[in-house]
Amino acid sequence: MVPCFIGLGSNLEQPRQQLVRAFSELALLTSSKLITKSSLYISKPLGPQDQPDYINAVAELETSLPALTLLSSMQAIESEHQRVRTEHWGPRTLDLDLLLYGQETISVEQLKVPHPEMVRRNFVLYPLFEIAPDLNIPGLGSLKNLLTKLDDSDLQKLEPDE
Ligand code: ATP
Ligand code: CA
Ligand code: CA
Ligand code: CA
Repeated sequence: MVPCFIGLGSNLEQPRQQLVRAFSELALLTSSKLITKSSLYISKPLGPQDQPDYINAVAELETSLPALTLLSSMQAIESEHQRVRTEHWGPRTLDLDLLLYGQETISVEQLKVPHPEMVRRNFVLYPLFEIAPDLNIPGLGSLKNLLTKLDDSDLQKLEPDE
């Protein structure tokens, strides 16, 4: 089994419910086991600003699926959530990004791992740190050190009862 980390995001159609549902769908993936989910975080949109705030989280999954099969399964879950692709970084019901696949570096047309933008995104690194504080990002060093380069302004952790 390979430990993997998946970033979740939503800013349409009851984003919190979208993420709660996505966690349970990830838990049902074949040859895989959902290990941990982070808290939910509220973040500001990237790119176009004329869209609602996002809810983000990170999940840890153990899987024996090959990385590209896992990616297809994640895309099938996005489709289940009626995701429609419009503009780049536009609003979406559900986005699932494969952040890390063990300690592998993957660079093919459909899949880049570690996710190339993750180290610049506080809404990825903060929830990731919450569930895996000792993580190493292949080629980029310790998560702890990477986190010191990002502030948490504009990022709000939701407590479970909020
Ligand atoms: P960003 O990748 O900057 O977060 P995005 O999530 O809005 O932007 P999408 O439209 O969801 O981008 O994805 C575009 C393509 O990215 C997908 O078709 C997929 O093949 C490719 N891709 C490359 N690397 C990854 C990855 N690590 N996880 C998910 N998709 C990836
Ligand atoms: Ca727009
Ligand atoms: Ca994304
Ligand atoms: Ca994506």
